Amino acid sequence: MIQYVHMFSEGDRDQKDLLGGKGANLAEMVKLGLPVPPGFTITTDACRAYLSEGQVPPEVRVEVTQRLRDVEDLIGRQLGDYEEPLLLSVRSGAKFSMPGMMDTVLNVGLNDDSVEALARFASDERFAWDSYRRLIQMFGKTVLDIDGELFSAIMDRAEEAAGARTEVGLDAEDLKQVVAEFKELVLKETGSPFPQTPRKQVDMAIEAVFRSWNTERARLYRRRERIPDDLGTAVNVQAMVFGNLGETSGTGVCFTRDPSSGHSGVYGDYLPNAQGEDVVAGIRNTLALADLEGRDETVYRELRTAMRRLETHYRDLCDIEFTVERGKLWMLQTRVGKRTAGAAFRVATQLVDEDLITMDEALERVNGEQLTQLLFPQFDRDADRTLVAVGMGASPGAAVGEVVFDNASAEARKAEGASVILVRRETSPDDLPGMIAAAGVLTARGGKTSHAAVVARGMGKCAVVGAEDLKVDVTAKEIRVGEHVVRQGDTLAIDGKTGEVFLGDVHVVDSPVMTYISEGIEAGEAAAEDSETKELVQAVHRLLTHADSRRRLRVRANADTGEDAQRARDRGAEGIGLCRTEHQFLGERRQQIERVVLAETDEERETALAELLPAQTQDFVSLLTAMDGLPTTIRLIDPPLHEFLPDLTDLTVKVALAEERGESGPEVDRARELRDAVRSMHEANPMLGLRGVRLGLKIPELFELQIRAIAEAVVRLRKDGKDPQPEIMVPLIGSNRELVIVRDQAERIIAEVAEANGESMDLPIGCMIELPRAALTANRIAQTAEFFSFGTNDLTQTTWGFSRDDVETAFFPRYLENGVLTISPFETLDALGVGELVRIGVEKGRSTQPDLKAGICGEHGGDPESIHFFHNAGLDYVSCSPFRVPVARLEAGRAVALTESGSSI
Ligand code: PEP
Ligand code: MG
Repeated sequence: MIQYVHMFSEGDRDQKDLLGGKGANLAEMVKLGLPVPPGFTITTDACRAYLSEGQVPPEVRVEVTQRLRDVEDLIGRQLGDYEEPLLLSVRSGAKFSMPGMMDTVLNVGLNDDSVEALARFASDERFAWDSYRRLIQMFGKTVLDIDGELFSAIMDRAEEAAGARTEVGLDAEDLKQVVAEFKELVLKETGSPFPQTPRKQVDMAIEAVFRSWNTERARLYRRRERIPDDLGTAVNVQAMVFGNLGETSGTGVCFTRDPSSGHSGVYGDYLPNAQGEDVVAGIRNTLALADLEGRDETVYRELRTAMRRLETHYRDLCDIEFTVERGKLWMLQTRVGKRTAGAAFRVATQLVDEDLITMDEALERVNGEQLTQLLFPQFDRDADRTLVAVGMGASPGAAVGEVVFDNASAEARKAEGASVILVRRETSPDDLPGMIAAAGVLTARGGKTSHAAVVARGMGKCAVVGAEDLKVDVTAKEIRVGEHVVRQGDTLAIDGKTGEVFLGDVHVVDSPVMTYISEGIEAGEAAAEDSETKELVQAVHRLLTHADSRRRLRVRANADTGEDAQRARDRGAEGIGLCRTEHQFLGERRQQIERVVLAETDEERETALAELLPAQTQDFVSLLTAMDGLPTTIRLIDPPLHEFLPDLTDLTVKVALAEERGESGPEVDRARELRDAVRSMHEANPMLGLRGVRLGLKIPELFELQIRAIAEAVVRLRKDGKDPQPEIMVPLIGSNRELVIVRDQAERIIAEVAEANGESMDLPIGCMIELPRAALTANRIAQTAEFFSFGTNDLTQTTWGFSRDDVETAFFPRYLENGVLTISPFETLDALGVGELVRIGVEKGRSTQPDLKAGICGEHGGDPESIHFFHNAGLDYVSCSPFRVPVARLEAGRAVALTESGSSI
């Protein structure tokens, strides 16, 4: 038979699934012999049964009766007793903390008779009546569903009548009157009197807590925090103890270490003669915990001992709620405390130094999100700020600068020493120079994998995208937002983490952890402004070094230039997993590609290609130099053709205007020809059209140029005594045959270059797996590919049928709201769908080639949760933006520690 109700003394902290976090920790404290008011926990099983059946299982009532009697025996008071009544608290407690989301009812058990008994027992009439009115108010609101405002209005009137500023000013007589009015209100609103039977109150409160699992705000909170809806909450029923029985009583909260610095010490607040809610409500100023020593040394000592025991036992920073009732300490709650990112790293290493945890455990206690927070420069939270819009934080960081709308202005102002924010409705590869020059990028359209977002993340540059309130007029060079007009040259500040856009300057502070990551431990220590920060830099260094020693996944970077590659290498990248070569065909070179594509004769095309070869070879020379000795995956050109051609609308307008004005001549003819050519190549869904290997097969000269440039770069570097390790990667493969053709072509060119230079050259040729068909036929593709790299951006796009540039602003907000998605699948890998294809791809690929090297180079390569997935799927490496390399190193190490200890991320 299922047991639905457990005394605190029966459980322990490992039973959070069944007892909820609060219940499990209360049980653990009882086990430790700490003074916990007696009570019991009704399990999440009971809640789930309630949620599916619509009623509390009948066994619960029976078990509650038995456990209630145990509690009465333990404390020596009885529910509803006329002399020393037992009062109960009934609180929710789910597996994951959901602060303030669900219901709590205190003082359960009071009625018209026991209130008098309480007054006598406590020798305090006011206290008793105040407790009773609190019960009716809380019970009325949460159990009986009466509008809380109606209770507040009665309180307000009472305060006014008594000439009191707050409820503290009401005396026993006033409160009796309030209770009478509250009871009338209950009768009027529900048609029944306030329940006088204590046991009935208990049962109703339990049911109300179960019910509160599914309130609108609780559901919303769970969606945001990605807590599953089917967990249910436990209910903790516990004997009340009172901190408001005079000056020898009180209530407080404390931490075993400072949650912001991590240092050991006495941290907390204490409020004499008060109940828990009073501390939260902030009606009176609290005392520092240390002041308790002067008020009651015995209690203080006892509390310090309990804090030490808890920390030693949990081997972590704990937070604690306690109450002192007439000189007796009671522990009401404990849990492993929340902390800042910096404290997480410091506490973890402090605990290692105190021999409380191992380095592996320390690694489990920190995460990539926290490390990311430590890497970004941040706005000074205390600064004055004017918020004008909120978009999506697409690439964290803080940037302040002059608004510019185009590349030329961005570059010119940057050259003059200004910091600029590039503002566009959306960005395209054409905007790259402006993005490079800018301190931050702001767009009104696009989602987290829009061009602006991906490129900015790649550069470690702050970006806010999809700030739809901004009316960006690039021609007029102004933004309208609400009542404000922001013109070119005006200052904006953007927060790439929160997506906030501020008017004017906001002070920015730099991160010493970032200095450590890119320049080493000594530079990081030197950049720290105080000893605490220095300790933080050292903690990050120790944990990251440990992660490196533990991880199986290699970490590479996505980088397109020698400069980016060097930056990635400085941050610990062990190779390049993706060089998007199309980024090398921007600016002036775009026109050369345009000529290749639009060439009418072979000769024209050859000339254009011949001009590109030296430049492209130089690109690879600089990339391979930065990555000397390390694998460098160079992807052949991928994007849709139209990205290299002039804009169709511009051309159409140009021709139409010329015709209207009756202009003619070679220039107009040329424009007309160009328009026709571009029109003939126009595609409705370019991302599903002529791109990737398809482009390579249609215009083989493009791939040929790139392969030749790679081979020649190898020759050149080898002559200089270097050790280039390029790997040639073919994008968007859907069929093995496509790869066979490109591989034959590549081998022929490589052999030609090698022979001409008296070299031998065997460059690995592999492909991206970024279409479902590629994953499903990976056993065939592995007959030809020497490596796989999963392109999870396209794989997500094609598996879901989501256009990656459009959907995030179009309907994702709605999908997140109604729970179809818990997070964008472009941000965290959709393990069930896209992840399954990755698994299938790896498995099938290795069924043909057992040692097949497989990596991932989509945006997910830098996402903590996804990295754990890739570790478990048996990939060899992840490749992410240079900025995220340290995060990936840390998470890849954590994946090993967590898997070995059987914990989850
Ligand atoms: C991908 O599709 O995951 C990928 C890395 O390629 P791109 O983002 O350039 O399409
Ligand atoms: Mg792709």
